[in-house]
Amino acid sequence: MQELLVYIDGKFVPKSEAKVSVFDHGFLYGDGVFEGIRAYNGRVFRLKEHIDRLYDSAKAIALEIPISKEEFMEIILETLRKNNLRDAYIRPIVTRGVGDLGLDPRKCGKPTIIVIAQPWEKLYGDLYEKGIKAVTVTVRRNAIDSLPPNIKSMNYLNNILAKIEANVKGGDEAIFLDHNGYVSEGSGDNIFVVKNGVIMTPPTINNLKGITREVVIEIIHELGIPFKETNLSLYDLYTADEVFVTGTAAEVCPIVWIDGRVIGDGKPGEITKKIMEEFRKKTEKEGVPVYADDGS
Ligand code: PMP
Repeated sequence: MQELLVYIDGKFVPKSEAKVSVFDHGFLYGDGVFEGIRAYNGRVFRLKEHIDRLYDSAKAIALEIPISKEEFMEIILETLRKNNLRDAYIRPIVTRGVGDLGLDPRKCGKPTIIVIAQPWEKLYGDLYEKGIKAVTVTVRRNAIDSLPPNIKSMNYLNNILAKIEANVKGGDEAIFLDHNGYVSEGSGDNIFVVKNGVIMTPPTINNLKGITREVVIEIIHELGIPFKETNLSLYDLYTADEVFVTGTAAEVCPIVWIDGRVIGDGKPGEITKKIMEEFRKKTEKEGVPVYADDGS
């Protein structure tokens, strides 16, 4: 099998040689931004939305990406082609670049641009049918006035601390609260609850503005299900009829247990299952074609 090829600054290099400098501020300080994108059956799902978010994250940290969005999208498509991939998880990364040991970003030369694409099946393995267990964690989501969760930055330690706590507490996923006690999101996904036929999710102030979240809201509207974007508390989670998370890696995944409380009847709910099915359909038919023969 051909070794995976990784795009780094204009070149495709084998995975074993895909390396960046230890003086890169992405490595030294988590100074950079990234995306997680999926391709399904030769089409990149919501590519433009992910690229827009990447450039917005970069703008928010005053990092100028030295290529156009169109060029970036083409690099992503080319990375898939070079690796003969049709179904893949794609990881574009833009770091501040190589600098000195000081923090000052002005000392960095040009940003480092990386695109990794590789096969990646399900984040939660075989748990989609039976649902996952989630635990709330004591570590709070980064405050919006310190490291705004809307910036998809390379600094994921807040999320990793949450994941460590979930692992210790026996949860498949962590649920973050914000500093006011409102539900924020999972360690790598957004969260929705269903109560008495109404679907609710927190506004995207204290969490990442998830692209899968947007797709799911589209689906909810298409299905004509009542929907509210509103602050949620732990009480709303514990007393929900259904809870599910959404994310590029996670896709749509039911939560059936939170902090020892069984959600609904302990099985994925009907509304969640319907949304999972509609999500699958969208990923099958939408997206930017990777290979020319898929274009028409
Ligand atoms: N929140 C966090 C913290 C995430 O890392 C992700 C994954 N990117 C999400 C939410 C879901 O976002 P998306 O649907 O755009 O993948």
